[in-house]
Amino acid sequence: MIDTPSRPCPACGESKHRIKFIKGEYHIVRCSACSLVYLLNPPQETALYDEYYKDIKFDPSLYRADSPDSALGEYFAINQKRLKTIKTFKSGGSLLDIGCGKGLFLKTARDFGYQVQGLEVSNQAARFARQEFGFPVRVGDVAESEDSLYDIITLWHVLEHFIDPLEKLRQIRRLLKPGGFCFIEVPNLYSLKFMLSRRKWVGGNHPRYHRTFFTAQSLGAMLRAAGFTRVRRLLLFYHIPGRFRTYGFLKRGMNLLAMDAFLDYMVTKP
Ligand SMILES: [Zn+2]
Repeated sequence: MIDTPSRPCPACGESKHRIKFIKGEYHIVRCSACSLVYLLNPPQETALYDEYYKDIKFDPSLYRADSPDSALGEYFAINQKRLKTIKTFKSGGSLLDIGCGKGLFLKTARDFGYQVQGLEVSNQAARFARQEFGFPVRVGDVAESEDSLYDIITLWHVLEHFIDPLEKLRQIRRLLKPGGFCFIEVPNLYSLKFMLSRRKWVGGNHPRYHRTFFTAQSLGAMLRAAGFTRVRRLLLFYHIPGRFRTYGFLKRGMNLLAMDAFLDYMVTKP
């Protein structure tokens, strides 16, 4: 049974759509007007996110760059790549990571010399970031943020979780200083990974937590509609030595064809 109502397209307001996938009770549709692929009947509660983090290990000794947990080592390598890219646009300044989770990105960002703050919906994750790393992390929503003006705002795999991504992007733009930068990464619907696994790709925990399935076209259009300028796709190549050695060549090819598993964008506030 679907207990949440269906809704119009969060990008253009159109209510006509075509079903693209059905996963359990969730309907993933394509907007007939603007082609955005979105979850028609999302669950509303943000309390979902304490559940989202409940199985994640909270042992602080794991969250170091030299951690014995290889998945975390990989995560640090990814964050270093992100920050090296950010630094080419703006070195230093204030940085807000929205959906900062346990603060792993903030940790690397502080090492790169940024004054960091976090915003997070999960109480558990925010508490960890505050207690273990001493970061100022606020629990709440973007809309409730004070009018602080940041040089940089980052969203790593966060935008696809919002029920109203366009409205959130407008609020995020307001939080930036004029000329400030926003960096966004989301899963790429038109990736090789999606092409190969289709229904499985939108499955997993996606329909509960992912409410928009972006392509370069739909994300670029939404960023412009939110009032950002210099909308630029970045091709970040997350090659982690060792772990992806076998697929390194294939991954590089997908990156060059812009069919990588992730979509990365840099935008600015005019
Ligand atoms: Zn639409």
